[in-house]
Amino acid sequence: MLLTITCTPPEGAAWPATDLGFLLHKNPDRVQAFEQSYGVAHVLYPEANAARCTAALVLEIDPIRLVRGRSRGTPDFSLGQYVNDRPYAASSLLSVALGAVFRTALHGRCDQRPELVRTALPLRIELPAVPCKGGPEAAERVFAPLGWSVAAIPLPLDPAFPEWGDSHYVRIELTGIVALTDALSHLYVLLPVLDGAKHYWVAADEVDKLIRAGSGWLAEHPERAWIARRYLARRHSLVRTALARLAEIDDTDPEQLDAVEDTGDEFDTEQPNSGDIAAASATTDDSAVAATVDAKVVVTERISIETDGHTPSLAVQRRAAVLTALRAAGARRVLDLGCGEGALLRELLADTTFSEIVGVDVSMRSLNIAKRRLRLERIPQQSAQRLTLRQGALTYTDARLRGYDAAVLMEVIEHVDAPRLGALEQSVFGSAAPGSVIVTTPNAEYNSLYEGLAADKFRHSDHRFEWTRAEFTAWAHGVANRYGYHARFAPIGPEHPDAGSSSQLAVFTKATAETADGAAKGAA
Ligand code: SAH
Repeated sequence: MLLTITCTPPEGAAWPATDLGFLLHKNPDRVQAFEQSYGVAHVLYPEANAARCTAALVLEIDPIRLVRGRSRGTPDFSLGQYVNDRPYAASSLLSVALGAVFRTALHGRCDQRPELVRTALPLRIELPAVPCKGGPEAAERVFAPLGWSVAAIPLPLDPAFPEWGDSHYVRIELTGIVALTDALSHLYVLLPVLDGAKHYWVAADEVDKLIRAGSGWLAEHPERAWIARRYLARRHSLVRTALARLAEIDDTDPEQLDAVEDTGDEFDTEQPNSGDIAAASATTDDSAVAATVDAKVVVTERISIETDGHTPSLAVQRRAAVLTALRAAGARRVLDLGCGEGALLRELLADTTFSEIVGVDVSMRSLNIAKRRLRLERIPQQSAQRLTLRQGALTYTDARLRGYDAAVLMEVIEHVDAPRLGALEQSVFGSAAPGSVIVTTPNAEYNSLYEGLAADKFRHSDHRFEWTRAEFTAWAHGVANRYGYHARFAPIGPEHPDAGSSSQLAVFTKATAETADGAAKGAA
């Protein structure tokens, strides 16, 4: 089985095509072989010059080794046979080989050509035979939204007997201007998806793997539900967990969650359980009347969100809760601290009450994505001028952040190492000291309702901690006391009678005579 990746730099490029070798961490002058449990992966370059460079991954599969190494309960019956298609077709095994042989490139690291790692390059990928259940349309559906021009040509069952029709194998050619690390991650996730038969049993940690491998593109892929279903071999509970977690990253349409139930189920032996995410979100009453529970200082309120009949995703509910809190605080000049890829910035820009918006993030990559996604060049200049993006670490004070009406820390604190949290508190509450601070963070108690999320795991691999409601309120009251704020709390997302809501929110209001006055006037 064969995969080729060809790079042709644009005319006048400052780098030769053979830099592909640096990006792949494989020298174009050599032929290398990598022993795998199921055979041998060879990497070689049929063509390598300044104008054009092609890397080939040739996988030589030992079908006997494959069958012998197969664990019991493998869902793919065909692998029980010594004669199968695996040696010839670019299947999930090719994806495993990509992950092993090009691991560093897949993770987007290249010390020798760091500037090229994230650069979109003119690439052409050819796969002569891909098992593609769903036909050439399926290949088009999954690759095209990622920026590829897709040619998927069905292969006849036997060229000598055209009347037999096509096989379920296709030749796939992808061309596009795509960063190599993204191209590899597309193949890594999507080859097993097209194949539809993973060669090993799909375990719960596959959800983590999928979320990690699809990071940066899967959350917004229009076919994410289908991809998750196929990748996870249709195990409903895992698929639901994956979609719920992807929904946290972006606005997965909740209908996609429902769609999980519709498909024929080949391998799943588990029954949907009433405590799972889909059930929990279905019972969320989003028009619930504001129920204000006054427990000492802790005022828990329900922020109601207007919907058009369906429960919005957690990410949508979270942003709506934050915007509601900002509006209630009367904020006009706002900071979005740890703005990430700009999902909240987009909504802030859309509302002209917010006259000045500053997005801050430590990750230049996220800020660049935000910039691209917000399409600032396409919105009226007057509107775009309200926004400033700034790179900075929130654990260091920055005088430029002083004097704002409000700051948002949406899903940010849990990304900061606990020992550095004091520094963030000082820079946000002590130095920047806006009138209000709105903080959201996951509620760890809710994690047990995410099936497939191990008890000792966090929702995202970058989370340094996840707090229970008690831990969050204790932290918030501590911060409020130290820096002169009042803290109020509200749930976000589906709620469980014991575990509480999926996400939690705190609104800190500066405890000055002025704000007390303002609040009194506002109430009058
Ligand atoms: N607020 C965004 C992104 C949340 S992800 C949203 O809800 O969609 C967390 C973000 O915090 C990441 O973009 C990460 O780069 C940023 N971040 C983490 N630690 C940071 C720090 N010390 N300073 C600034 N940004 C930080």
